[in-house]
Amino acid sequence: MTIRLQDTLSGETRPLEPLEPGHVRIYSCGPTVYGPAHIGNFRSFLFADLLVRYLRYRGLRVTWVMNLTDIDDKIIKGAAAEGITHTELADRYTARFLTDMDALGMTRPDVLPRATEHIPQIVDLVETLTEKGHAYATDDGSVFFRIASWPAYGRLARLDPDAMRVGERVTADEYGKDDVRDFALWKGSKPGEPSWDTALGPGRPGWHIECSAMSMAHLGMSFDIHTGGVDLVFPHHEDEIAQSEAATGQPFVKTWMHCAFLRMGGEKMAKSTGNITRVSDLVAGGVSPRALRYALTAVHYRAPLNYSEESLAAAGAAVERIDALLGALAAYREDRADDPGLPQMLEGVRTAFVAGLDDDLNVSEALAALFDGVRELNRRLDARALSTADAVRATDLVRDLDRVLGIAAPADATLDPELATMLEARVAARAGKNWAESDRLRDELLVRGVAVEDTRDGQRWRLVVGSGG
Ligand SMILES: [Zn+2]
Repeated sequence: MTIRLQDTLSGETRPLEPLEPGHVRIYSCGPTVYGPAHIGNFRSFLFADLLVRYLRYRGLRVTWVMNLTDIDDKIIKGAAAEGITHTELADRYTARFLTDMDALGMTRPDVLPRATEHIPQIVDLVETLTEKGHAYATDDGSVFFRIASWPAYGRLARLDPDAMRVGERVTADEYGKDDVRDFALWKGSKPGEPSWDTALGPGRPGWHIECSAMSMAHLGMSFDIHTGGVDLVFPHHEDEIAQSEAATGQPFVKTWMHCAFLRMGGEKMAKSTGNITRVSDLVAGGVSPRALRYALTAVHYRAPLNYSEESLAAAGAAVERIDALLGALAAYREDRADDPGLPQMLEGVRTAFVAGLDDDLNVSEALAALFDGVRELNRRLDARALSTADAVRATDLVRDLDRVLGIAAPADATLDPELATMLEARVAARAGKNWAESDRLRDELLVRGVAVEDTRDGQRWRLVVGSGG
């Protein structure tokens, strides 16, 4: 069985064949750290996380790089408004991004390079492009990429090069361009703006060039997969291909993967529509980060995701079903012969799960397989058809598949000591047939986020996965 991925550039779904056998090199366009990331951004980052987790699950070595854009117009503007340096503003929102990332259970990329730490590589790339006739300087000290020098321009976005960028706003600092379509590789310094003294003269990098410089610095001139939101296809990724391939003469990226939009109330999730929802605000408001992760990853990455209170509640219920099954399996004790049909049933779930994800990361199919398994395991638990050892086998499967999904509560989840004491007190109350006290403790535990259930295997508890308010 092979992993097949859809490539935006060719429009084809092709088998993944890493340039270096067994090792997949991935670059993801990361956040511009000028404010808290919203869930639309995180949909795209979590898609990349799912991809990385799955490739590792399938035994591949993965090197994953995600950049942090820590210098751009919005950062300069935000820092000026607050009277702080661009570095202070970028550091604050980088920390916030990492906190959100951890809250959502995202794998940390192997490298999180920052644009301002790659100025020499950016300058080298711009110099190479100028030497090869693909870039030119203007009077204000800026350097532009000459689109007319690159006939393949527009292939990724399937654009007619002559019709491109018509109507695109030409800012005052770009009047010196030879062609309205040309884009800035280097921005000549302006009074009051941060700048770096380089061989190109004082200035700062344009946005597009940083991704070419950083991806090639950490992954080489050609690498396997480049991800981003579909809004980055044009012009950002189109520009990345042009400047990278014009500089190196090598194919830049083998597979381009783009994540569709997040919609809220039918609107595309974007800052302009004002329906921003930030991860940190949601979590502070009581939304379970695991439910949020599920809601943002449970739809195939190329399909628009409709985010709503309802979808979040459904995600919370799905996560609770997995927690409840794992809790029931952990508590289950039955001294009987093993269920002879169980290994085949578990293997069937795994096979269907893998087949779904092998098919261009079709997570909906994979989740359907998992929840078929959850239903079947609950049925066998209710019928007391499993042995104690069977319950361990089933747990191992669910935990194993969750290495890809990252939604189950950790196996070693420990309770706040005060809550643990209340659970013990409740066991004692029931042993003493003090039903009023045991009910009181059950109610108080529930208010504090711990659901208690009495089963044949004794008292069982699980954390309530709320969708918050
Ligand atoms: Zn980028």
